[in-house]
Amino acid sequence: MNSKVEFFEKNKKKTNKWVKLICGASNEDINAIEDLCAIYSAAGVDYIDIAAEQSIAQAARNGIKWSEEFFGTSPGLMISICDGKDIHFRKAKFDPIKCPTNCPRPCENICPTFAIDNYGVTESKCYGCGRCIKSCPLNLISEYDFNLSKDELPTSLQIIKPDAVEIHTEINRIDPFIEVVRILKNSNTKLKTISVSCGLNQSPKSQKSPNDLLKALWERYEILSELNLPIIWQLDGRPMSGDLGPTTGRDTVKLFERIGSHLPPGLIQLAGGTNGKTHELLKVNNFPDGIGFGSSARKIMQPFIEYANKNNKKLYEYPERMALAIKEAQKLLKPWKIS
Ligand code: SF4
Ligand code: SF4
Repeated sequence: MNSKVEFFEKNKKKTNKWVKLICGASNEDINAIEDLCAIYSAAGVDYIDIAAEQSIAQAARNGIKWSEEFFGTSPGLMISICDGKDIHFRKAKFDPIKCPTNCPRPCENICPTFAIDNYGVTESKCYGCGRCIKSCPLNLISEYDFNLSKDELPTSLQIIKPDAVEIHTEINRIDPFIEVVRILKNSNTKLKTISVSCGLNQSPKSQKSPNDLLKALWERYEILSELNLPIIWQLDGRPMSGDLGPTTGRDTVKLFERIGSHLPPGLIQLAGGTNGKTHELLKVNNFPDGIGFGSSARKIMQPFIEYANKNNKKLYEYPERMALAIKEAQKLLKPWKIS
C-alpha cells in the first residue's frame, strides 16, 4: 500500500475519525498546555497542534508522556506556522495607565482565558481571539503579530522535531507559501504529514468565493507534491469561536458541503468554530474525515485547569479531577469516534 494511503488508513482504523486538539497558534500558557495535552491525549485525540516554540513543545510532550504512561495513548505533535499575516498568530495589548478608573472593564469580562487584569494583558495567556479589541469603548486595545519569522523556521524545526506541520495560508498568498514549502524541504525534517489551513473568513474584506478557495488548494497540492507527504486539508470556518455557541461551526460545515467532494487528495478536517454540536450540523451521509477542536476544547477544561494552577500544580496531580476532565474530553470526542 502506498505510504500516504497507509498513513490515513492507520489513523482511520484506530479512531474511525481523525480528531485534533488545537492548543492555539499563539497560546503560550505552558501549564495549561501541559494539562490540556495530558487530558486530550488520554481521551484519544490523534494529533495535537501547538505554537512553534520549544518550551511549548516541551510542555505538550510532558502531557503526552503522562498519557502514554497511564493510558497508552500518544498523539502526534503538530506545529502551526503561517506564510504571512494571520489572525491565529496575534496577541492583544494595551497600556492600563490610559484606562479611566471608572471603566466597567468589558475587555476583562469578555476574555475567555482571564488574560486581562489591572496590569493589562498577560501575554502568555492571550491567544489572539480579538474579543477584547472590539469591546473597548475607547479603542485602547491593539493587536500585534506573534509569528515565527521564516528565518527562524529551520532552527525551530530542528529543535522541536514535530511529527507534522500545519501551514496557515490565504487564497492569494502563493509565493510566500512556496517559500515555506522550500524551507520545509531543505530542513530535512522527517514529517509524517503536512496540513494546510485555509478558509474564506481569514480576510473578510477580500470577498473570495468557495471556488477561489478550491482553486488555491489545488495550486497548493501541486506545490506540496515535492514533499511527498500525506496532506490534511483543514477547512477553516469562523476562527477561534467554538466556545461562543452551538452553531459557530456552521461556516466550516457550509464550506465543506460546497467544496469537500472536489478537494485534492488527502484527509479533510473541519476547524474554526467547531464544538460539541458540529457533528449535528452535518448530513449523516456526508461526513469529513476529521475535526479539530480549539477554543471549545479549551473552554471545557478551563475550570479544571484553573483549579490546579491556582494551587501551583498540574491537574494530573489531582487524580479524581483529572478523571472527570478526561470524561468531559471523551464526551466531546465521542460522536467522532463511533461514527
Ligand atoms: S480577549 Fe482574546 S485577544 Fe483579548 S486578551 Fe483575551 S485571549 Fe487575548
Ligand atoms: S475596556 Fe478599554 S478602557 Fe476599559 S479597561 Fe479595558 S482597555 Fe481599559
